[in-house]
Amino acid sequence: MRPLDPPLFSADQIARRVVELAHEIDADLEAKGRSGDLLLIAVLKGSVVFVADLMRGMATPVSIEFIRARGYEGTESSGNVELTYLPEQSVAGRNVLLVEDILDTGRTADVILQRLRAEGPAHLALCALLDKPSRREVEVEADYVGFTIDDFFVVGYGLDYNQQGRDWPAIHVLPE
Ligand code: 5GP
Ligand code: MG
Repeated sequence: MRPLDPPLFSADQIARRVVELAHEIDADLEAKGRSGDLLLIAVLKGSVVFVADLMRGMATPVSIEFIRARGYEGTESSGNVELTYLPEQSVAGRNVLLVEDILDTGRTADVILQRLRAEGPAHLALCALLDKPSRREVEVEADYVGFTIDDFFVVGYGLDYNQQGRDWPAIHVLPE
C-alpha cells in the first residue's frame, strides 16, 4: 500500500505540532508542580511513533510503559475493547499521561482510563495526537490534542490500515 498525496498533515506539520504539545505539557506540569516524575503510558501500536517524538520534545524527565487494546477490525469499530498487554509498573500514586494515536468513538481510551483510574494514580491525563469528535460514542475528552479532524480514516505516523502504513512519515487519508 502506498500513501495518497498530498498528505492531510505533512511530516513537518506533525513535527511542529508535536513539539508545541510537548512544550504545553511541560508548562502545565511545571505550573502544577508535577514535573518531577511523569509516567507515559503509550497505547500500542499506533502511538509508538508519536510518543517517541513527544517524549524527546519534552524537558520533563519521563519513564514509559505500554498498554495494548484490541477492538478494531479494518476500519469498523466493533464496540468492545479488550486489554491484551498491561504496563509492568503499577500506576498507583504516579503522575500518569496516557498517550493515544487517535480518539474516535472514545471506547478504547475510556476502557484504558477506567482501568488505570482503578489503580489510584496521583494524577491521570490524556494526550491524543488526533481527535475525531464527530465520531464520539462515549464521553471522553483529551487534555491535549494534536489535530482535530473530520470523519476520515487516516494512515501513517504510526497509524495503520491492516498493519500497513505505520512507517509513513506523514498522515494520509486512506486511499480508496
Ligand atoms: P476508539 O476506541 O476511540 O473508537 O478508537 C481508537 C482506536 O481505533 C485508535 O487507537 C486506532 O487504533 C483506531 N482508529 C480509529 N480511527 C482511526 C483512523 O482514522 N485511522 C487508524 N489507522 N486507526 C483508527
Ligand atoms: Mg489500530
